[in-house]
Amino acid sequence: AKTTVAIVGRPNVGKSTLFNRLVGGRRAIVEGEPNVTRDRIYGESEWTGRKFNVIDTGGIVLHDQDKIKNQIKYQAELAMEEADVILFVVDARDGLTGVDEEIAQLLYRTNKEVILVVNKVEDFSHQEEISWEFYSLGFGDPIPISAEHGKNTGELLDVLVSKL
Ligand code: GDP
Ligand code: MG
Repeated sequence: AKTTVAIVGRPNVGKSTLFNRLVGGRRAIVEGEPNVTRDRIYGESEWTGRKFNVIDTGGIVLHDQDKIKNQIKYQAELAMEEADVILFVVDARDGLTGVDEEIAQLLYRTNKEVILVVNKVEDFSHQEEISWEFYSLGFGDPIPISAEHGKNTGELLDVLVSKL
């Protein structure tokens, strides 16, 4: 089976922007389960000849569940079950938040590969100081990118395919 990469992170960090950049038009329509919305969140990507599936977990929403924390928990658990590699996305503009730390707590329970991605880095002359605070999450070197402008996403993909 093809490797699966899941994108995890709190709302608004840029998960869907990164997903769109990775999969472009190669999206799959997936039949929903009764209690879950899974809308336009599965796609395929390829880098240096390696093909993999991508899931935007932010698009997986449990019905009858209005607490954002429960949604994020569900998304993280799903990623840990279904994915081989997890892209944990945080936001350089907001800095490290309590919700990021809570997601990290969930991800510590997995033995899957977790790659920490610091999104919304547009000024790469400051990337080291921007990434610094995210080291405390414990997932090693954060990879700074701008999903919107496609900056450094090639380096992220190099790291990603090296873990497949
Ligand atoms: P999601 O909720 O995690 O899926 O986040 P979205 O992909 O919907 O993005 C949330 C907001 O952040 C949108 O307004 C995006 O345009 C913006 N955004 C995403 N990536 C970047 C980036 O690399 N740089 C900047 N400045 N904004 C971004
Ligand atoms: Mg989204």
